[in-house]
Amino acid sequence: MRPVLPGFVALLALLGALAPRALALPNEVSYTISARLDVVQRRVVGTQRVTLINHTGEALSELFFNLPPNAFSRHSDTAYQRDLKRFLNATLGAVFSGNSDDASLTVQSVTVQGKQLQFSVQDTLLRLSLPQPLEPERSVTLQIAFVNDLIEAAAGNVFAGSYAVRSGVREGVYTVAKWYPQLAVFDPRGWQLHPYRLMGEFYADFGDYTVQLTVPQAFVVGATGEQTNQQNHPDGSKTLTFRARNVHDVAWVASERFSVSESVVAGKTLRTLWLNNSTLYDLVADSFGYYSDAFGPYAYDTLTAVQVTVGGGMEYPGIVMIARGSVEEVSHEVAHQWWYAAVGNDEFDETWLDEGPTTFSSERYRIEARGESSDLRRMVGFKEPGIPVLTAASGFVSLRTFGEAIYTKGSGVLWMLRGLLGVETFDRALLAYYERFMYKNATTQDLIDTFETVSGQDLRWFFDQWLRTSQALDVALDQVAVQAQPDGGYVTTFAVVNEGSAHMPVDVVAFAGDEVLRRWVWDGVGASTAFSLNSAQRPTRILLDPAHRLLEADRQDDVWEASPIKTLGAWLGLGAIAALAGKRWRLTSANRVR
Ligand SMILES: [Zn+2]
Repeated sequence: MRPVLPGFVALLALLGALAPRALALPNEVSYTISARLDVVQRRVVGTQRVTLINHTGEALSELFFNLPPNAFSRHSDTAYQRDLKRFLNATLGAVFSGNSDDASLTVQSVTVQGKQLQFSVQDTLLRLSLPQPLEPERSVTLQIAFVNDLIEAAAGNVFAGSYAVRSGVREGVYTVAKWYPQLAVFDPRGWQLHPYRLMGEFYADFGDYTVQLTVPQAFVVGATGEQTNQQNHPDGSKTLTFRARNVHDVAWVASERFSVSESVVAGKTLRTLWLNNSTLYDLVADSFGYYSDAFGPYAYDTLTAVQVTVGGGMEYPGIVMIARGSVEEVSHEVAHQWWYAAVGNDEFDETWLDEGPTTFSSERYRIEARGESSDLRRMVGFKEPGIPVLTAASGFVSLRTFGEAIYTKGSGVLWMLRGLLGVETFDRALLAYYERFMYKNATTQDLIDTFETVSGQDLRWFFDQWLRTSQALDVALDQVAVQAQPDGGYVTTFAVVNEGSAHMPVDVVAFAGDEVLRRWVWDGVGASTAFSLNSAQRPTRILLDPAHRLLEADRQDDVWEASPIKTLGAWLGLGAIAALAGKRWRLTSANRVR
């Protein structure tokens, strides 16, 4: 019998004991949607059958559906349009191609067993009363008829994505997302009812979808899931059937302008639909292969990546929309297939939980697989946003602080954690998180629990400090003194001080030229710690956090460099004379590099 390491057994036991804590398990939902693309009226006309099994543990007398396109309706006072005014001082006018163009998702009828139900619509939310309460563990099936009027985006408004407009038609390319009435989530906190806003986009139950799309026969269609059937009709149209299991949304595109590239990568079908970006496939395939290795196999059988003309780079389960096609954009959207599509989350209350890992993943791919500089990490230009990462999307007061907290700090926290735990432990924990929460909505607490379990460390202090506060880290070198010794060596003394309110272990490295004289790790505890170094060579440089692992806003005072004149003086023996005379060269705060 092979010996088994006790530590490994303990880890397995811990993993087994880690109960799934995903928030939004309750409802079991399935959708069967039949929709026809009307290219004359530029709209999607559909009916859907929604079956809901109530796992909430309580009787539901009302149901709520999200109707995102209503956010864009002209002459409507929607939360989204108020956001546009407030955050961008903009209106939707520039997005539409003309005055007669509009956007909406109109529900024409809702029936249960042939009986019409009353409903009301406010902003992007539909509310309906069930004829009788839906008891726990019972199911209800609704039939909903709807029309999604698509924006025809103005010629000059290339992507409209910066306005969070994700759907529409431009130059014969239809991008159809957030397009059908989708059941709102009832989780242990109750109904999660959020109007569509400029910031914070997704939260939905995982479920199975069958989508039948009727389009002109000349059109190429890309959609969430696998195409299972095609039927041509005498009127020149065709109906394509797509099936997707364990997804929390479906989106699609259609155009006769698409070229298609397709093959198998890491055991999955990769399909790109492109207009003029012929290298899109290679970029998608490369990042997809990297993530499959790094985070675990892709959760679905097919990923479709599409070059779109409306909506900007955007993620949906099983399909990503690509606008400009940069490495950053493509690798970001593909990474969302792991963090967002497979592992879902409440993007309204915990926006960072998919954007943080996605930004981190894309940066890691570019550094580790493409050999780009680690300076590309957003955290390198970090400025403390002054608002905790774990702030609901609706609580942000500017797009800038939203970006800094959610994307920059969100990814930076993961880079820091990787530095803290070590690459091997961190990577193993992220893999465990992916496996555990695939096809579920995870919470930040689920992520923390997984990292604590896998690392065997208490990480509450770390996550609390970096996610729940806006405490800043500001370490600095102080009182650096180099004394030449009679034997020709040097004694260097200095202090590392913490001028901020956050604390982290800090790498401290002394150099002579390019040669490392010594490395220390300061535990970061307390306000200041003294260091000293005996060396044969004269130190020329001392650095705090040389690998830039920390989220630190002020890095000017992390560097001490011997001034060339002093170094020259030392070389000429003047330093030795000065030291012998009992003088000490001291770097004061005044002559620190700023
Ligand atoms: Zn993103």
